[in-house]
Amino acid sequence: MIQLGLKARHFIPDAHYESIYDIDFETLGKDGVTTLLLDLDNTLISYDDTLAGEELSRFLAGLKEQGFKRVVISNSRQRRLSTFCDPLALDYVAFAKKPFRSGFKKALSIAGSTKEESVLIGDQLMTDVYGAKRFGIRVLLVKPIKKRTEKWYTRFNRRLEQKMLRKIEKKHPERFRSLRLDDRA
Ligand SMILES: [Mg+2]
Repeated sequence: MIQLGLKARHFIPDAHYESIYDIDFETLGKDGVTTLLLDLDNTLISYDDTLAGEELSRFLAGLKEQGFKRVVISNSRQRRLSTFCDPLALDYVAFAKKPFRSGFKKALSIAGSTKEESVLIGDQLMTDVYGAKRFGIRVLLVKPIKKRTEKWYTRFNRRLEQKMLRKIEKKHPERFRSLRLDDRA
């Protein structure tokens, strides 16, 4: 098994939501969060989309008005990131190599923020949750927008994710239930 040796606790998010629209950003702000690191694919838009629609554009602008710094951090290519982020005047890190630390470091240096005041919002256990936990920041997991159009490497990660979910269920049953991770199976 590929993830042999990986500890289930490194894959448990701090919270789990249906979508980014369900996150309580006001409470996050009160908890000292100033900086949102946002995954792109299947967190903000699906793989077959390239631009933010009106609802998402307004939502992202609203987060800025609420005082949040926003940096998009994605393993996708430069071109996809600039196409999405430039019209919204959003900072980004392309080819971030999550779950490795380098992209996270770069994102925080762009924002000028500390780990303590930053959270990652993403849809994948193997890249987003694991990466954020390795780096040492909070992480909010959302359900993927559309799994049907995912690329082969993401489908591969999803298979590992399912195995890891079973491991979390076994080793940390109370967290598994309270986070409603069974919804992802
Ligand atoms: Mg994603």
